[in-house]
Amino acid sequence: ANNHVFMKSCTNGFYEQHHGHHDEQPVNAAAKQLIGDALRERVENIDHEYCDPGDEDTFYVADLGEVYRQHLRWKMNLPRVKPFYAVKCNPDTKLLQLLTALGTGFDCASKAEIEQVLSLGVDPSRIIYAQPCKTKSYLRYVANQGVRQMTFDNADELRKIARLFPKAELFLRILTDDSSSLCRLSLKFGASLDSTDELLALARELDLNVVGVSFHVGSGASDPAAFLKAVRDAHVVFQQAAAYGFNFKTLDVGGGFCSDDTFEGMAGVLRSALDDYFPAHSGINLIAEPGRYYASSAFTLACNVIARRTIEDMPALNDDVMSADSNGSASYMLYVNDGLYGNFSSIMFDHQNPVAKILHADGRTLYNTAAAEETSDRSGVEYSIWGPTCDGIDRITESIRFDTVLDVGDWLYFEDMGAYTKCSATNFNGFSNDHDVIYVCSEPGAKALMGL
Ligand code: PLP
Repeated sequence: ANNHVFMKSCTNGFYEQHHGHHDEQPVNAAAKQLIGDALRERVENIDHEYCDPGDEDTFYVADLGEVYRQHLRWKMNLPRVKPFYAVKCNPDTKLLQLLTALGTGFDCASKAEIEQVLSLGVDPSRIIYAQPCKTKSYLRYVANQGVRQMTFDNADELRKIARLFPKAELFLRILTDDSSSLCRLSLKFGASLDSTDELLALARELDLNVVGVSFHVGSGASDPAAFLKAVRDAHVVFQQAAAYGFNFKTLDVGGGFCSDDTFEGMAGVLRSALDDYFPAHSGINLIAEPGRYYASSAFTLACNVIARRTIEDMPALNDDVMSADSNGSASYMLYVNDGLYGNFSSIMFDHQNPVAKILHADGRTLYNTAAAEETSDRSGVEYSIWGPTCDGIDRITESIRFDTVLDVGDWLYFEDMGAYTKCSATNFNGFSNDHDVIYVCSEPGAKALMGL
């Protein structure tokens, strides 16, 4: 009955608009139940004394219903902006299939990503090759496949495109202020407004087809003002282009959107900037390249505790620690079968701070219970959590406390693990980087689209 209640814990406009209740509990109990059942079924069926090597490997549970809800949320907040999902964020095939059915486009960065999306039957016009510095052989490949939309930000790239794919539809990617984002991209990409005029002149001289502007305010952006400035700058470039006789048709506002409760504020600022500078009557198409927004919250990761080291009677380093640990209780180092070189690559590359919860301990599944959660004060048992490789940097959590005593064979879980995790995992030390994904679907609408 409450399939349409949202899983996120935000209490702002979106739920209120959707449900009309200010006091509605915004936790999707049905979705949690489905995810919990999938996690429990898997871990309770593993006999750690006799299982085959790898049977206790890390695995994901993905709720496609969450992706569907995120899409509705996008349409409600940015109805004029068509999302082109950034495949790099998480190229999970079922996720891509659902987005295909939902009618999104795709932002691809390489031949492999373009191939994967085309293999799903997606029309080449739904793809943007959003990589300003492209491999020559990939350019020949996209020319053959009819993938025409692509970005550029420098003169050398324009000359390369003129030789290999002169009929491409080009987006001039401009520089943004990405200083408030988690992952800065403008150090590497984007033409400054000082250079756009010259680039447009060169494109004209080379008889190239520039059709619009793109930008990216940085992945994991937190300052909505960055969108306002970027839209304003894009408008300036649209005017410059008109002076060169280009008839720009599309603005691509990139990615950067988080899936947490900052989205509505960010989208609100962007929406009004677009309404001011690119109003509906201007006839300009608006597209975006969200990645994290769609993928992050849909994936939960479960890891097995493979080893434990007891740190007896931690010696006091100073008076503070002395008083905090004056009960002299042991703390533990937990070693789990996934880490920074695996799906927690997001700690290194994406500046994330995944928070462990207890999935299964002491013969009981604790998913989504108070006992699964970190204790808020300094009570409970202290743990540090480490990955399985030989490297000392392979640490997931420096310090966390639970009321429960954890031991080898127990399971932890981490929510919001869908973005920039599996895709950048290595198999360093011979550990797998291709873990199972168990799919559940908490939305009937998504089930119907997926034929489930
Ligand atoms: N578009 C481009 C060109 C990118 O480089 C990225 C991320 O690096 C994205 C889109 C997706 O960004 P996000 O996941 O922050 O939405």
